[in-house]
Amino acid sequence: MTSLSDSIQYIKSVGPKRAESFKKIGLETVKDLLFYFPTRYLDRTNLLTSAKVMQYVINGYEGEVTVIGEVVDKELMRFGKKQVLKVKMRDSAGFFECVWFQGIKYFKNYFNTHEVYAISAKPVITRYGHLQFAHPDFDRLADAESTEFRNTGKIIPFYRLPKELKSKNIGELSLRKIINLAVENYAHLAKETLPLSLVRKHKLLSIVEALKNIHDPENKNKLRSAIKRFKFEELFYLEILIALRRTTLKRKLKGYSFKIHTKPIKKFLDSLPFELTKAQLKVLSEIKKDMMSEQPMNRLLQGDVGSGKTIVAVIAMLMAISDGAQAAIMAPTEILANQHFININRLLKDLGIKTGLVIGGQKKSERKQVLDDIASGEIQLIVGTHALFEESIKFKNLRLVVIDEQHRFGVIQRSKLIEKGIVPDVLVMSATPIPRTLTMTIYGDLDVSVIDEMPANRKEIKTVLTGEKKLPDIYKFIVDKAKEGYQTFIVYPLVEDSEKLTLKAATSHFEDLRKTYLREVRVGMIHGKMNWRDKEEVMKKFAAKEFDVLISTTVIEVGIDIPDANILVINDAFQFGLAQLHQLRGRVGRSGKQAYCILVAKDEMATRINKFNFNFEYMSKSEIEKYKTLIRLNSMVKYSNGFDIAEVDLKLRGPGDIFGLQQSGFPDLKYADIIQDSEILYSAKDEAFNIIKNDPDLIKAENQMIKNHLLTNYRQNLKYSQVP
Ligand code: ADP
Ligand code: MG
Repeated sequence: MTSLSDSIQYIKSVGPKRAESFKKIGLETVKDLLFYFPTRYLDRTNLLTSAKVMQYVINGYEGEVTVIGEVVDKELMRFGKKQVLKVKMRDSAGFFECVWFQGIKYFKNYFNTHEVYAISAKPVITRYGHLQFAHPDFDRLADAESTEFRNTGKIIPFYRLPKELKSKNIGELSLRKIINLAVENYAHLAKETLPLSLVRKHKLLSIVEALKNIHDPENKNKLRSAIKRFKFEELFYLEILIALRRTTLKRKLKGYSFKIHTKPIKKFLDSLPFELTKAQLKVLSEIKKDMMSEQPMNRLLQGDVGSGKTIVAVIAMLMAISDGAQAAIMAPTEILANQHFININRLLKDLGIKTGLVIGGQKKSERKQVLDDIASGEIQLIVGTHALFEESIKFKNLRLVVIDEQHRFGVIQRSKLIEKGIVPDVLVMSATPIPRTLTMTIYGDLDVSVIDEMPANRKEIKTVLTGEKKLPDIYKFIVDKAKEGYQTFIVYPLVEDSEKLTLKAATSHFEDLRKTYLREVRVGMIHGKMNWRDKEEVMKKFAAKEFDVLISTTVIEVGIDIPDANILVINDAFQFGLAQLHQLRGRVGRSGKQAYCILVAKDEMATRINKFNFNFEYMSKSEIEKYKTLIRLNSMVKYSNGFDIAEVDLKLRGPGDIFGLQQSGFPDLKYADIIQDSEILYSAKDEAFNIIKNDPDLIKAENQMIKNHLLTNYRQNLKYSQVP
């Protein structure tokens, strides 16, 4: 009997040696092969000769075509300052040319005489009567392949060919053949993994048909349907997991219903030197409602850098404490935990609330005391890093957990607490604006509150980009402003000078600057290689205005709150990511004074960036990739709002990096893209949520397939849903 779990050796032409190479890349069974999908395709059905294309264009055809040709020549041409690369090619019917206006160096080296390429693009005829393709898509074809293409009339799959196979003489052709055999002999054995009703309703291909068409498409439409089916399936199970998590929290786990006493909270609000914004009040009422309900809170609090999330968190913690419970706030780094600890103590100083700090690098005796006081309930408000969730820590009655700046981290922490029998209300805070598509789908297990307004006293931060030659002027500006009480951060990408990198380092500049340009002011330094005690010491001094200037690395990136720090200089700014730059910029402009963010780059680059103008609509993916540094820095100057910045960042990096499912307890996506496939995501979400709403434990007969599929394929992820 053949089955999908057969060893890959059952395929003709795969012996023990080849099987060994396949095993190295994780392909052991026939099933593994069936699910090794092509990464791209060449549509041979659209393949035309150059003469045919010529005719088409003359007849007014405007679509994309594919031609195959051999490189005969390449030529670099200059028109004033502009350069154009022209690659001349030939096929059996004539000549044509490909041109590039950008990325010229790269493409010039890429194309070599006698190589054979498949070229796809919209054709035009130049005024000299030549057939031309501008910035085409292209695939370099192996010799054997180019004959194959001439002989078949199909859509050809291309598979990633890892070096483990290449080095064992398995080429693109033989890999394609091996997979083809697997599809022919085994694909029909694949078991359906989606409920039939959904397959019908959404007109999806069955799994068998989808597998066949993903490897050997009958036509373009079938290929599209096959891809869609796998995307739907992947997103459907993701949403099932999200829906399960949501029901578990809402319906199955019993949380605590707080009885909130308003007196201490009113007292606290009266002690603040400012009024809360409308947006802060609105999110507070949403949080309060959650806390008073018996269902455990699972809320995401979004608000741009500096919008005042910390105060909201502190008030939520006070509400918990007013009912005799413990509350904790977790920060992503020790320095930030420490900063929160200092700030919170300052805010709460008249309320007589006992606070404690739990971080990794503490002294044993100190830590023991804190832990004892947490266990006895003496400490009411706990600040810490993830050290807070270590097994050994016992709480008296922890009922509210706030998680700062790590938007998907809460899940794993919560599940650790649940294992200890604690079902706290959880508030996750994030400064990264998350598009609505995502809050409705992959964040569907969370309720969302947004602070969509900045405190009224804020002035827009002035952001400029300059070349290094301006640095002396910048130092003078810093010194002058220090006399008015302004404090400054000067950020460098590196801690120490490095032989390999020409980037600037904090330590050497610290030594230099305080003897030269910054002689007249007090200069401190902080970086990631210092231990937390030293860091704490420096931050304390800076907060107490014992320094005018703080030389630093990105350790100050997240959450640091020094109201009088109103100048930020970022050296080698091209070195940082966009979200990171925006976070760094959020360190200034936290009081009513005018703040400045000065991005410094190499002189020539700065000039280019300041002249640079971009519009994503007119840019190809490769152009975006090529200009991403310019786009990043240019956007920083252009945009101050976190939502605008996040949108650009999303286009530059894709959603994976930013809103990645990593650490969320959810599976990574192999096929679907949560932004590009948002339509499929919405329908998969509706179906999944509907199913879980009607059958939260998946006990109905018709849902057994879903349950089994979850248990075999998503066991790891299920543990965060406490189901089934
Ligand atoms: P973030 O949202 O980045 O965590 P913070 O909570 O650190 O922002 O707040 C930034 C600064 O704004 C802090 O110094 C805080 O005291 C101040 N702040 C918060 N809310 C208000 C308000 N309503 N009016 C004026 N200042 C505020
Ligand atoms: Mg914050």
